[in-house]
Amino acid sequence: MLRFTFVTLFPELMEGYFSRSILARAIKEEKIRIDFRNPREYTKDKFNRVDAPMIGGGAGMLMTPQPIMDTLHALKETSPEAHVVFMTPVGKPFRQHDAKRLAKKSHLIIVCGRYEGIDERVIEATADEVFSIGDYILTGGELAALVVCDAVSRNVEGVLGNSASLNEESFESRLLEAPAFTKPDIYENRTVISEFLKGNHSKISDLKRGLALCKTKYFRPELYKKGMADEK
Ligand code: SAM
Repeated sequence: MLRFTFVTLFPELMEGYFSRSILARAIKEEKIRIDFRNPREYTKDKFNRVDAPMIGGGAGMLMTPQPIMDTLHALKETSPEAHVVFMTPVGKPFRQHDAKRLAKKSHLIIVCGRYEGIDERVIEATADEVFSIGDYILTGGELAALVVCDAVSRNVEGVLGNSASLNEESFESRLLEAPAFTKPDIYENRTVISEFLKGNHSKISDLKRGLALCKTKYFRPELYKKGMADEK
């Protein structure tokens, strides 16, 4: 079982995501476990504050070190092996291979920033890894942490009913997935690629690889180039 602990000022923003579908079932079947810690419950500030203006100037407030540090110390005391991940736009890009790697851990603590982010000393002192989910700024780390948790959970054994679907997805073999179709064969005058209907699986698989190459080259030329270079 993989345990996720989210360190967040807004657990209620996240809870609903785990109430339905695949992740709800994974929790019920004890493949994953989810819990939350709110740094506000650890603050020693007499007004219950968890943020302060930036030293040296700058717009907005930063999360102060003490509440997050105390939250993490308390967690680490009972779970010293836990792997601590911070979500931040200045982290390394989160990729599918990270999702697969992190799925093998036993406990992931994912720290969500708010305001203009977190005092850098907290990250220096406690982070095992620092991830960004893309080149844009969110209002908080909760959505980013859910993205990471969802992508990691799919790779935990037993979470997906059909594990074959994991190997056929985009980014496996560095290609985007080929176009896919379901019933009916014709919908609003648009037909399924005729070869797909003939049932010759080796031909279909060749065709899918060709289409996956085209899609990757068109939408993600940098991924295509890297894939081609690696194959040489
Ligand atoms: N001042 C920060 C900057 O310019 O890099 C942005 C802070 S953002 C408004 C607040 C929090 O949202 C961050 O601490 C982080 O936890 C989260 N966040 C925002 N964008 C993110 C992204 N692309 N990836 C991961 N986390 C992100």
